[in-house]
Amino acid sequence: MGGACILLFEVNSNVEELFCLVPFLVIMSFAATALAAPTDKSADPAFRDIDRSALIKRAFEVQPKSYAPYSNFNVAAAVLCGSGKIYTGVNVENASYPAGICAERNAIFHAAAEGERQIKAIAIIGGPKGVVSDYCSPCGVCRQVMREFGDPKKVLVIMAKSPTDYQEMTLEELLPLSFGPENLN
Ligand SMILES: [Zn+2]
Repeated sequence: MGGACILLFEVNSNVEELFCLVPFLVIMSFAATALAAPTDKSADPAFRDIDRSALIKRAFEVQPKSYAPYSNFNVAAAVLCGSGKIYTGVNVENASYPAGICAERNAIFHAAAEGERQIKAIAIIGGPKGVVSDYCSPCGVCRQVMREFGDPKKVLVIMAKSPTDYQEMTLEELLPLSFGPENLN
């Protein structure tokens, strides 16, 4: 099938390329749908012992320190590392917009600067003017930074509205087919 696809592309016929791509797009669409839904991971041995509420509370504690005068969208994150320590971060914006940083990366870089090299879980909260009324998911750049410090199957991403109301997904679910450090070995 793969060989047929390559041959069709070599022929460079638009119709044949379309026939070749349709099954691929349908499969990818189903795969994306299957991976998108948050599910309870508490039965998974990798995540069973993680105190979700404690992690979320740490994020709420630091959220008032978020510096977001431009978006007014205040985000906070708390990351649980391999050592068992928790590090926090908030989004810090800048008048030169790209110079700002997300809460998740701020927390992870904080942890890395303290010598941590493994992420087990990260809790994320956020909302306009600091009001958390919906689940806040990490941007693509932050997902890639998480990928640097953990096996995607073993990193738990917790998107919370409160210490008891949250959704959780593995990093693999949020960032399928990812590129990580081992790809360069
Ligand atoms: Zn981000």
